[in-house]
Amino acid sequence: MLKVYNTMTRAKEEFHPLEAGKVSIYCCGVTPYNHPHIGNARPFVTWDVIRRYFAKRGYEVRYIQNFTDVDDKIINAANAEGCSWSDISGRYIESYFRSMDALNIRRADLYPRVSETMEDIIRMVETLVEKGYAYVLENGDVFYRVEKFEEYGKLSGRKLEDMQAGARIDVDRRKHHPMDFALWKAAKPGEPSWDSPWGKGRPGWHIECSAMSLKYLGEKFDFHGGGSDLIFPHHENEIAQSQACIGDAHAFARYWLHNGFITIKSEKMSKSRNNFFTVKDILQEFPGEVIRFFILQTHYRSPLDFSDERLQEAQTSLARLQNTKACLEELSAKEGTAETAAELCGKAETLLAEFYEAMEDDFNTALAISQMFALSKEINIYYQDVVAGKTEPDAKHLERVKDIYMEMAEVTGILEAQDTAKEDGLADKLMDIIIGIRQDARKEKNWAVADRIRDELKTAGIMLEDTPQGVRWKKA
Ligand SMILES: [Zn+2]
Repeated sequence: MLKVYNTMTRAKEEFHPLEAGKVSIYCCGVTPYNHPHIGNARPFVTWDVIRRYFAKRGYEVRYIQNFTDVDDKIINAANAEGCSWSDISGRYIESYFRSMDALNIRRADLYPRVSETMEDIIRMVETLVEKGYAYVLENGDVFYRVEKFEEYGKLSGRKLEDMQAGARIDVDRRKHHPMDFALWKAAKPGEPSWDSPWGKGRPGWHIECSAMSLKYLGEKFDFHGGGSDLIFPHHENEIAQSQACIGDAHAFARYWLHNGFITIKSEKMSKSRNNFFTVKDILQEFPGEVIRFFILQTHYRSPLDFSDERLQEAQTSLARLQNTKACLEELSAKEGTAETAAELCGKAETLLAEFYEAMEDDFNTALAISQMFALSKEINIYYQDVVAGKTEPDAKHLERVKDIYMEMAEVTGILEAQDTAKEDGLADKLMDIIIGIRQDARKEKNWAVADRIRDELKTAGIMLEDTPQGVRWKKA
C-alpha cells in the first residue's frame, strides 16, 4: 500500500486514487526568464520518478505542468534586452526542455501557458468577484479577499491574525487585509496586457495554476506538487481561489507533496542569493544521468546539499550500476541450461519487493536505490564466477534477473543513457584522428607506433581494414 506525506494533514497517509486505476498530477512549472538551475530541476526529477512508479504499477497517469510565461521577471528581462516578453519566455522554455531532456525527464501531457489560458483565468476571477471573494479597485486591479475564505492558512498552518501582526507597515493601503493578493493587475505603460471586464491588464501569479488545473484536471484531482517554498503563499492562495470558485472545501488537490531545497554549504540555493548553478552549466562537466542519480540518492523531502565532490561520488556509484548492466548483457548473450542462477533469481525477486516497499514509503528513492545496489552486488559475484569458469551460465533465470534489474532502472529513470558518443559521430571523429596518427607513423616507417595502435585497437575490439578509399574501422 502506497503511503505519502501530505503537507495538508502533516501526516503520512494511504493513497487512494480519486478514480481507480488513474492518477492525476499537477506540478507547478517554471517562470522562463533564465536557464533552469538545479534547485528548479529537483521537483521535476522527483515527479518524473513518481509518474514512472505509477505507470509501472499499471496506472493511467495524467501529468500537467505549467509555464508562467507572463510575469514581472520576464517583462524586466525583455525591457533590459530590448525584445518582447515572448522572445524571453520562448527562449527559456526551449532551454528548460533541453536541460530536462538531458536529465531523462519524460514530457508532461500538457504544458499550459498563462498567455494561452487567459479566457479561463478571466472567467475564474469574474466568478470570485461575483461570489464576493474578490474586489475590484478603481484602477482595474482585482484582489482576493482572504478574510472571506474561512480556512485560509490551512495548508501552511498559519493563522490570519498572526500574518496581519507580522505584515510590514508599507503594505498596499488599498487592500482590505495585508494578505489580500492580486488576481488581476491593471496594465502599466509598456507592459503586455489583455482585455478584461476590469480593463486592460494581466493576471497575478497564483490564479493561473487554479485556472489550469480546473481546466485540464477538473474540480478534483489526486496530487499537487512543487518545491516547499511554494507552500506559502502560492499553494495557500491556489487553494483559496479554487475552493471558493468551485464552492467546495474538498475540491482541488487531495494530496500535497513538497520537495526540500537544494542547499550549497547548507544555504538554500536560489537566484536571489546568487548561489545557484544552472543545469546547463553542470551538464558541461557531468552527464545528465549523474545529476538525476545525485538528486534521487536523497529522499525528496530532505534538504540536498550540492557540491562538485558529491556529484563526483554520484558518478562513481552510478558507474557501478552501469557496469552491472553491461555484465548482464554479456551474460545474457551466453547459452546455458544449468540451473546455476536460481538462487540469484530468488534474491532478485526479494530485492524487487523491497525496492517497491521503499517506493511505497513516501517514494523513498534513496532506499530503493540501495536495493538496486544490493542486487548489483549479487549479479557481480555471479558474473565473476561465470567468467572464471566456476559456474555454467543459466539463460532462463538470468533473463528474469535482468528484467528485474532493468525494471528498477526504469522506475528510477537511470541506466537509460543513449550511446551519445556514437550518435553525434564522436566515435568517428576520434577514430579519424587515431587512424591519421597511424598513417603518419607508417610513412615515417615508425612500425613500433603503427603496430601498437593496431594491436591496442584490436584489444579494444576495433578492427582496421585497408580499402581502396583508405583505412576503415569496424567493431570486431
Ligand atoms: Zn502553481
